[in-house]
Amino acid sequence: MFRNRWNIITFAGIRIGIDLSWLLIAVLLTWTLAVGHFPFAYPGLSHAMYWIMGFWGMLGLFICIVLHEMGHALVAKHFKLPVGQITLFLFGGVAEIKKEPQSPKVEFWVAIAGPIVTAFLIVLLFLCTYVGEKWNWSFMITGITSYLTVINALILFFNLIPAFPLDGGRILRAILWKWKNDLQWATKITTRLGSGFALFLIFFGIFSFVTGNFIGGIWLTILGLFLYRAAMASQTHFYMNKVLQNAKISTFMTKQIETVPPQITVKTLLDEHMYKSHHHLYPVTEQDKLLGYISLQEIKTVPQDQWSTTLVRSIMVPLSKTPTLSSDTHAMKALSVIQEMGVSTLFVVKDSHLEGLITAQDLFKLIYIKIELEGDGATK
Ligand SMILES: [Zn+2]
Repeated sequence: MFRNRWNIITFAGIRIGIDLSWLLIAVLLTWTLAVGHFPFAYPGLSHAMYWIMGFWGMLGLFICIVLHEMGHALVAKHFKLPVGQITLFLFGGVAEIKKEPQSPKVEFWVAIAGPIVTAFLIVLLFLCTYVGEKWNWSFMITGITSYLTVINALILFFNLIPAFPLDGGRILRAILWKWKNDLQWATKITTRLGSGFALFLIFFGIFSFVTGNFIGGIWLTILGLFLYRAAMASQTHFYMNKVLQNAKISTFMTKQIETVPPQITVKTLLDEHMYKSHHHLYPVTEQDKLLGYISLQEIKTVPQDQWSTTLVRSIMVPLSKTPTLSSDTHAMKALSVIQEMGVSTLFVVKDSHLEGLITAQDLFKLIYIKIELEGDGATK
């Protein structure tokens, strides 16, 4: 999900890192605090002081968000869910939990753990501010703690809106799931609330923009678009998981495959195979053993006047770089391999013998057929 990600520390076996987009927020936030919020709230201090306060305010928020995500991650770990990493990005933080929760109880506790941490932080920061002001602590401390109290309260409020995939949406999904014992129905309701809320943010953002609140308007619109995409993606992922959960690739892979030998020339490949059967890719085999594959991409690297002298063997993609799987792999796993590797075709192999091919289109066709035949309620 995050291409420009840096690890910062590892805590309790969980890697914590930042995405490039968080740096942008960190700079923007420090700047707004140093030239806007703090000089307005505490006039009469030096410029340097405001910048130091801005920096610590930003860092404090960073720590609060990490702790919130840590709450989700540690509870998920407690329930034996595989936890990946925590990343801070443009819209806050995300703890990567690699599996859907197995019961409403698990979903509920994992989802509510973050807001509980944030609520606890709000109380703590509020007390710090209160005691600090009473005992005349420096503005540098009380200014930052009071800012962090308010910002965490906003985060808590926003997070608890019952719109999937926000925490509030997950909590609501757990409650609905428990109530009717139907995860599919609960997902449908909460992702609809999620996309509805996202659309509201987008329209409200556009409205703010045209009525003069430019920055706030753009910000709300982008946030709305992000949430809309996330709500849609979780819905699609959920349905695919449901439809594909018991499907193994052996049952729907293509078994009749046209293969080519390695010793033919590119010209023969084109004349005898590609121009006749119109596949964009051919496995290369020798005595029933898979050696690799050749596709349009490799052929394009050869100048046309060398087609009749260049052998397939010399330009094919070798087996070591060919994406292979075994036939008892689950369809969902195959789909995630296709997405992660960015390839269009997977080769199903047993003891270096090619058993079949599977493409992203095959998987989508299977999903389509299953939904057409079984309906989206029949697969639960
Ligand atoms: Zn959360």
